Amino acid sequence: MRIEEIQSTTKKQRIATHTHIKGLGLDVNGTAIPMAAGFVGQVAAREASGLVVDMIRQKKMAGRALLLAGPPSTGKTALALGISQELGSKVPFCPMVGSEVYSTEVKKTEVLMENFRRAIGLRIKENKEVYEGEVTEFSPEEAESTTGGYGKSISHVIIGLKTVKGTKQLKLDPTIYDALIKEKVAVGDVIYIEANSGAVKRVGRCDAFATEFDLEAEEYVPIPKGEVHKKKEVVQDVTLHDLDAANARPQGGQDILSLMGQMMKPRKTEITEKLRQEINKVVDRYIDEGVAELVPGVLFIDEVHMLDIECFSGTDMTSPHGIPVDLLDRLVIIRTETYGPTEMIQILAIRAQVEELEIDEESLAYLGEIGQRASLRHSIQLLSPASIVAKTNGRDKICKADIEEVSSLYLDAKTSAKLLQEQQERYIT
Ligand code: ATP
Repeated sequence: MRIEEIQSTTKKQRIATHTHIKGLGLDVNGTAIPMAAGFVGQVAAREASGLVVDMIRQKKMAGRALLLAGPPSTGKTALALGISQELGSKVPFCPMVGSEVYSTEVKKTEVLMENFRRAIGLRIKENKEVYEGEVTEFSPEEAESTTGGYGKSISHVIIGLKTVKGTKQLKLDPTIYDALIKEKVAVGDVIYIEANSGAVKRVGRCDAFATEFDLEAEEYVPIPKGEVHKKKEVVQDVTLHDLDAANARPQGGQDILSLMGQMMKPRKTEITEKLRQEINKVVDRYIDEGVAELVPGVLFIDEVHMLDIECFSGTDMTSPHGIPVDLLDRLVIIRTETYGPTEMIQILAIRAQVEELEIDEESLAYLGEIGQRASLRHSIQLLSPASIVAKTNGRDKICKADIEEVSSLYLDAKTSAKLLQEQQERYIT
């Protein structure tokens, strides 16, 4: 069997605008440092979020949720991301928008379930081991080809390996046969076998393993040596959804390594409830055995009022924030405030730095003004087109004229809505 690495399927684009956020920027007493970890201002909300982090750590948030309420672009998403970063570097952060649940093809509960599983991480600790030994037998076993019907194909390869503890016979995957042929391995050669929690992953000559396992020159000297040559613990972080997606194919895996090995295989089918239960079973077993550990993360639902009664099963209909009262009762509510010009300018300066854009003071101040009128997000979004305009005009640094040009090209949401309202008689309603 071969084990491939599972790539995480975290939604990258949605987090891209928050790359400057590295945490909540609080000191040891939980007080917000005015400008820290990419955060500017929003002091009360950051401190309140810090307390939520403490509550999560003390496991006092179970069955509860956090509602971030405030005007657009006031850092609600940024705060949620900050919370997940404070909880640990590999804590999953899954942002979604309430309206995402409305699809003609997928059930609302299915969309929610997928996102919940994106927000639950699994840290898998595997033990990689390298064995060394002399090849005493190297014979491919052939089978009738099932695919083309012509000739025979290699079904597996038998390798005899002489180690200090005696000679073993191993039956390995055909891909391993290909790897050995490529390395021109023959009987009498010394090879290394990498096993991953018991399953053979890779074989080859020592050089290939040297860097990865920090093998030193004298360690290449073959037998006699200890049977296990070198051990290495590898930690991989995936989410439950990564495992669901990787295994959404006709034959599900039996153990965690085959679960992880499904990633590269094509012919994906739908993720079913049955599949999720299978995955849960395997995951539970591995947690019990101490191979894996659950890492609860943060699910951030933007525009939560977009969710309807089917998403909050079994509760009352209308209520403040569009959230059923009994859930509302279990929420911790944090309010965010609108930014003043200075704070907006500071945030814009941080964004420009992260996006590696040069911008002069006057332009920053002008963008700050636009932000006050429209929204912070709108002025942040003007940064990249303005830098393109600057480059087109042969400059590296963005100047006020570039901002003026792009802001005349792109409407912000408020202006666009106002225009629509003013000219409504010209549109079909
Ligand atoms: P909406 O309600 O429209 O979804 P939001 O309240 O979630 O908006 P964000 O998306 O978090 O707002 O903020 C808009 C942009 O401004 C993001 O790029 C975010 O990282 C940045 N930002 C917001 N507040 C701060 C802050 N206090 N410090 C640094 N960056 C911030």
